[in-house]
Amino acid sequence: MATDATAHDSAYWMAQESEYYVHTFNRQPIVVARGEGARVWDVEGNEYLDFTAGLAVTCLGHSHPVVTEAIREQAGTIMQMSNLYYTVPQLELAELLVENSCMDKVFFANSGVEANEGAVKLARKYGRLHRNGAQSVITVLNSFHGRTLAMIAATGQPAYQQAWLPLAEGFTNVPYDDLDAIREATTDDTCAIMVEVLQGEGGVNVPTEGYLKGLREWCDEKNILLIFDEIQTGMGRLGTLWGYEHFGVEPDVMTVAKGLGNGVPVGAFLCKERCNVLEPGDHGSTFGGNVLATAAGRATLGYMIENDIPGHAARVGAYLHAKLEEFVAAHAPATVGTRGAGLLQALVFAEPIARAVVTAANAEGVLLNPVLPNAIRFMPALIITEADVDECLAKLDAALTKTLAA
Ligand SMILES: *Cc1c(COP(=O)(O)O)cnc(C)c1O
Repeated sequence: MATDATAHDSAYWMAQESEYYVHTFNRQPIVVARGEGARVWDVEGNEYLDFTAGLAVTCLGHSHPVVTEAIREQAGTIMQMSNLYYTVPQLELAELLVENSCMDKVFFANSGVEANEGAVKLARKYGRLHRNGAQSVITVLNSFHGRTLAMIAATGQPAYQQAWLPLAEGFTNVPYDDLDAIREATTDDTCAIMVEVLQGEGGVNVPTEGYLKGLREWCDEKNILLIFDEIQTGMGRLGTLWGYEHFGVEPDVMTVAKGLGNGVPVGAFLCKERCNVLEPGDHGSTFGGNVLATAAGRATLGYMIENDIPGHAARVGAYLHAKLEEFVAAHAPATVGTRGAGLLQALVFAEPIARAVVTAANAEGVLLNPVLPNAIRFMPALIITEADVDECLAKLDAALTKTLAA
């Protein structure tokens, strides 16, 4: 049996972290013991309204009973078989994903970054077969595609790249939201363009009307694959099951992860039949499509569709947006704007005070993410209510007032 999480106080666990854990995270000083719905409790028993949802992961809320039960049942049945054999949850989750998207085939991975790696392998094979051997992928600045050696080359943020040179070859980063830059960067070697439909980690950046449609037309004209990284925007986050529906543009390949298992690590890439080019031996994974992970995914996605959670996210997201606009007006000039869609939104400050405001908000009892030095990201569970939004913004109001007074 593991130690009871509440057997020690926060200070003890924070000291354990600095003793034993590689110091790559600047964590907020809260040691979380448990969660339920949109709330978590720390080891001292303090309650927090959670507007981070494990980084846009726990879309149905923490410890959702339907997902918990599915995991319990699967854990007592069989957890891992490998892809040498067929297993039922994997195939049922595959069917759910394909029948509820514009895609035709799916491949399961263990995380977002692995899903992207698979999507790029597929694009390179497509280029080899159908575009005279083209192998390189265009991505955009301020994007985020994950932290493996290849995906930091795809991620257009020098801060993630500089310490790890040489970068993997075959990626070109061009300015975001700029069709001319894409056209200029396209060469005979381009096999794919990969973008988020709305940038998450880059600061909740929404493209201008026509950008994604323009990408679609350019890809069609040049026989290039359009890959949407929907790891953050998928699973109802923008108020539609998939972000591409919000923008009305279909990709050829789509990657998903974060919300798919409601907290159990599972990712996937999906593709249309015309670019379904991978064959036996081309790609694989020991755990990818694991029985436990896909049972959690099947329960999560099934519940989400049956209960129209994306529709709920759209309604509460519109409420959050309206309330954030009021908040911005009430706190100007310290606040300068808000942006986003559905339940992925940001509040922008005039000064780089986001981290200080989030720390003050923690003390008020709400968890938020300082996505940029001057912006806070809201990415709560999609099951939150308007009352949760009101509570969050009242606490944020107090936090901002205290920060500005300090
Ligand atoms: C989180 C994220 C990733 C990386 O996912 P991991 O599971 O952390 O590897 C990739 N792309 C986007 C858009 C993300 O938000």
